[in-house]
Amino acid sequence: MIKVVMLPVGLLEANCYIVYDDGRTDAVLVDPGAQPERIERELDRRGLNVSAVLLTHGHFDHCNAVYAFAEKGAKVYLHSSDEIMTRTRLNMSELTGEPFRSFVPDVLLTDGNEINECGMTFTALHTPGHTAGSVCYALGDKLFTGDTLFRFGVGRTDLPTGDHRCLERSVRDILFALPGDREVYPGHGELTSLDFERKYNMFAEI
Ligand SMILES: [Zn+2]
Ligand SMILES: [Zn+2]
Repeated sequence: MIKVVMLPVGLLEANCYIVYDDGRTDAVLVDPGAQPERIERELDRRGLNVSAVLLTHGHFDHCNAVYAFAEKGAKVYLHSSDEIMTRTRLNMSELTGEPFRSFVPDVLLTDGNEINECGMTFTALHTPGHTAGSVCYALGDKLFTGDTLFRFGVGRTDLPTGDHRCLERSVRDILFALPGDREVYPGHGELTSLDFERKYNMFAEI
Protein backbone atom coordinates (compact mmCIF):
# COMPACT_ATOMS: atom_id res chain seq x y z
CA MET A 1 0.00 0.00 0.00
CA ILE A 2 1.31 3.43 -0.93
CA LYS A 3 1.84 5.89 1.90
CA VAL A 4 2.12 9.65 1.60
CA VAL A 5 3.51 11.88 4.38
CA MET A 6 2.93 15.62 4.04
CA LEU A 7 5.47 18.08 5.46
CA PRO A 8 4.94 21.81 4.98
CA VAL A 9 8.45 23.30 4.90
CA GLY A 10 10.05 26.73 4.81
CA LEU A 11 8.71 30.27 5.11
CA LEU A 12 6.17 29.75 2.34
CA GLU A 13 5.09 26.37 3.76
CA ALA A 14 5.45 24.46 0.53
CA ASN A 15 4.24 20.88 0.92
CA CYS A 16 7.03 18.32 0.68
CA TYR A 17 5.70 14.77 0.29
CA ILE A 18 7.42 11.54 1.25
CA VAL A 19 5.92 8.80 -0.92
CA TYR A 20 6.69 5.11 -0.39
CA ASP A 21 5.33 1.63 -0.74
CA ASP A 22 4.72 0.24 2.72
CA GLY A 23 7.22 -2.50 3.55
CA ARG A 24 10.00 -1.02 1.42
CA THR A 25 12.86 1.16 2.65
CA ASP A 26 13.26 3.39 -0.41
CA ALA A 27 11.18 6.52 -0.90
CA VAL A 28 10.41 9.27 -3.37
CA LEU A 29 10.37 12.93 -2.30
CA VAL A 30 8.11 15.36 -4.08
CA ASP A 31 9.29 19.00 -3.78
CA PRO A 32 11.85 19.16 -0.97
CA GLY A 33 11.76 22.95 -0.75
CA ALA A 34 13.48 23.74 2.56
CA GLN A 35 14.49 22.32 5.94
CA PRO A 36 16.43 19.25 4.75
CA GLU A 37 17.21 18.22 8.36
CA ARG A 38 13.54 18.09 9.20
CA ILE A 39 12.79 15.98 6.13
CA GLU A 40 15.70 13.68 7.05
CA ARG A 41 14.29 13.23 10.56
CA GLU A 42 10.94 12.14 9.17
CA LEU A 43 12.68 9.71 6.83
CA ASP A 44 14.84 8.30 9.67
CA ARG A 45 11.80 7.77 11.91
CA ARG A 46 10.37 5.54 9.19
CA GLY A 47 13.66 3.87 8.23
CA LEU A 48 13.53 5.30 4.70
CA ASN A 49 16.19 6.35 2.18
CA VAL A 50 15.46 8.71 -0.71
CA SER A 51 16.03 7.24 -4.18
CA ALA A 52 14.40 9.95 -6.25
CA VAL A 53 13.25 13.57 -6.07
CA LEU A 54 10.32 14.62 -8.28
CA LEU A 55 9.93 18.36 -8.73
CA THR A 56 6.61 19.89 -9.77
CA HIS A 57 8.40 23.05 -10.97
CA GLY A 58 11.55 25.11 -10.50
CA HIS A 59 10.56 27.69 -7.87
CA PHE A 60 12.91 27.88 -4.86
CA ASP A 61 10.18 27.08 -2.30
CA HIS A 62 9.86 23.62 -3.90
CA CYS A 63 13.55 22.98 -4.72
CA ASN A 64 15.82 24.55 -2.14
CA ALA A 65 16.57 21.33 -0.23
CA VAL A 66 17.18 19.20 -3.35
CA TYR A 67 20.97 19.57 -2.99
CA ALA A 68 20.97 17.63 0.29
CA PHE A 69 19.36 14.56 -1.31
CA ALA A 70 21.21 14.87 -4.65
CA GLU A 71 24.51 14.78 -2.70
CA LYS A 72 23.48 11.39 -1.36
CA GLY A 73 22.71 10.03 -4.81
CA ALA A 74 18.98 10.64 -5.25
CA LYS A 75 17.96 10.97 -8.89
CA VAL A 76 16.35 14.36 -9.58
CA TYR A 77 13.51 14.83 -12.08
CA LEU A 78 12.36 18.22 -13.44
CA HIS A 79 10.57 19.33 -16.60
CA SER A 80 12.99 20.62 -19.24
CA SER A 81 11.27 24.03 -19.47
CA ASP A 82 12.05 24.83 -15.80
CA GLU A 83 15.68 23.66 -15.95
CA ILE A 84 16.85 27.28 -16.30
CA MET A 85 15.44 27.97 -12.80
CA THR A 86 18.03 25.69 -11.18
CA ARG A 87 20.78 28.16 -12.02
CA THR A 88 19.19 31.60 -12.40
CA ARG A 89 17.16 34.07 -10.35
CA LEU A 90 14.05 32.92 -12.22
CA ASN A 91 13.52 30.50 -9.29
CA MET A 92 12.41 33.62 -7.34
CA SER A 93 14.50 32.93 -4.22
CA GLU A 94 14.84 36.68 -3.84
CA LEU A 95 11.20 36.76 -2.68
CA THR A 96 12.41 35.70 0.77
CA GLY A 97 16.09 36.54 0.39
CA GLU A 98 17.18 32.98 1.16
CA PRO A 99 20.32 31.95 -0.71
CA PHE A 100 19.48 29.40 -3.41
CA ARG A 101 21.32 26.07 -3.42
CA SER A 102 21.65 25.15 -7.08
CA PHE A 103 21.52 21.55 -8.30
CA VAL A 104 21.66 19.64 -11.55
CA PRO A 105 18.59 17.59 -12.52
CA ASP A 106 19.39 14.05 -13.69
CA VAL A 107 16.29 13.68 -15.88
CA LEU A 108 14.62 16.46 -17.85
CA LEU A 109 11.01 15.45 -18.31
CA THR A 110 8.60 15.93 -21.15
CA ASP A 111 4.83 15.34 -21.13
CA GLY A 112 3.76 11.76 -20.52
CA ASN A 113 7.09 10.45 -19.23
CA GLU A 114 6.75 7.46 -16.90
CA ILE A 115 8.95 7.38 -13.84
CA ASN A 116 9.61 4.02 -12.22
CA GLU A 117 11.03 4.47 -8.73
CA CYS A 118 10.74 2.55 -5.47
CA GLY A 119 8.22 0.06 -6.84
CA MET A 120 5.87 2.83 -8.02
CA THR A 121 5.10 4.26 -11.47
CA PHE A 122 4.44 7.99 -11.70
CA THR A 123 3.32 9.71 -14.90
CA ALA A 124 4.42 13.30 -15.54
CA LEU A 125 1.62 15.47 -16.94
CA HIS A 126 2.90 18.74 -18.37
CA THR A 127 0.57 21.44 -17.01
CA PRO A 128 2.14 24.80 -17.90
CA GLY A 129 0.69 28.06 -16.59
CA HIS A 130 2.14 28.69 -13.11
CA THR A 131 5.54 28.21 -14.78
CA ALA A 132 6.32 26.99 -18.30
CA GLY A 133 7.69 23.72 -16.93
CA SER A 134 5.09 22.92 -14.27
CA VAL A 135 4.08 19.27 -14.11
CA CYS A 136 1.65 17.19 -12.07
CA TYR A 137 2.55 13.63 -11.16
CA ALA A 138 -0.13 10.95 -11.37
CA LEU A 139 0.33 7.84 -9.23
CA GLY A 140 -2.69 5.52 -9.27
CA ASP A 141 -5.56 7.50 -7.70
CA LYS A 142 -3.18 10.16 -6.40
CA LEU A 143 -2.20 13.41 -8.08
CA PHE A 144 0.64 15.70 -6.94
CA THR A 145 -0.23 19.10 -8.36
CA GLY A 146 2.47 21.52 -7.14
CA ASP A 147 1.37 25.13 -7.66
CA THR A 148 -0.95 24.26 -10.56
CA LEU A 149 -4.01 23.28 -8.47
CA PHE A 150 -4.85 23.99 -4.82
CA ARG A 151 -7.93 23.45 -2.68
CA PHE A 152 -10.31 26.18 -3.93
CA GLY A 153 -7.61 27.70 -6.09
CA VAL A 154 -4.78 27.69 -8.57
CA GLY A 155 -1.23 29.03 -8.62
CA ARG A 156 -0.31 32.63 -9.37
CA THR A 157 0.62 33.48 -12.93
CA ASP A 158 2.34 36.84 -12.47
CA LEU A 159 5.87 35.43 -12.10
CA PRO A 160 8.27 34.86 -15.04
CA THR A 161 6.90 32.31 -17.58
CA GLY A 162 3.48 32.38 -15.87
CA ASP A 163 0.43 32.47 -18.16
CA HIS A 164 -3.13 32.60 -16.84
CA ARG A 165 -4.88 31.28 -19.96
CA CYS A 166 -2.39 28.49 -20.23
CA LEU A 167 -3.03 27.56 -16.57
CA GLU A 168 -6.77 27.56 -17.16
CA ARG A 169 -6.29 25.17 -20.10
CA SER A 170 -4.01 22.92 -18.05
CA VAL A 171 -6.48 22.67 -15.17
CA ARG A 172 -9.62 22.25 -17.28
CA ASP A 173 -8.38 20.27 -20.26
CA ILE A 174 -5.72 18.13 -18.61
CA LEU A 175 -6.47 17.70 -14.89
CA PHE A 176 -10.28 17.92 -14.84
CA ALA A 177 -10.35 15.74 -17.98
CA LEU A 178 -8.65 12.83 -16.19
CA PRO A 179 -11.00 9.90 -15.68
CA GLY A 180 -12.55 9.41 -12.22
CA ASP A 181 -11.76 11.03 -8.93
CA ARG A 182 -8.21 11.48 -7.57
CA GLU A 183 -6.77 12.46 -4.23
CA VAL A 184 -5.04 15.79 -4.82
CA TYR A 185 -1.79 16.60 -2.98
CA PRO A 186 -1.16 20.30 -3.69
CA GLY A 187 2.03 22.33 -3.38
CA HIS A 188 0.57 24.52 -0.61
CA GLY A 189 -2.36 24.19 1.77
CA GLU A 190 -4.76 21.36 2.50
CA LEU A 191 -5.35 18.14 0.60
CA THR A 192 -8.31 18.05 -1.74
CA SER A 193 -9.76 15.88 -4.50
CA LEU A 194 -10.36 16.26 -8.19
CA ASP A 195 -14.14 15.89 -7.79
CA PHE A 196 -14.18 18.63 -5.12
CA GLU A 197 -12.23 21.00 -7.36
CA ARG A 198 -14.36 20.10 -10.40
CA LYS A 199 -17.27 21.56 -8.36
CA TYR A 200 -15.78 24.40 -6.32
CA ASN A 201 -12.56 25.56 -7.99
CA MET A 202 -12.43 28.96 -9.75
CA PHE A 203 -11.91 26.98 -12.97
CA ALA A 204 -14.88 24.65 -12.33
CA GLU A 205 -17.17 24.26 -15.33
CA ILE A 206 -20.49 25.85 -14.51
ZN1 LIG B 1 5.65 28.10 -7.58
ZN1 LIG C 1 5.04 27.30 -4.24
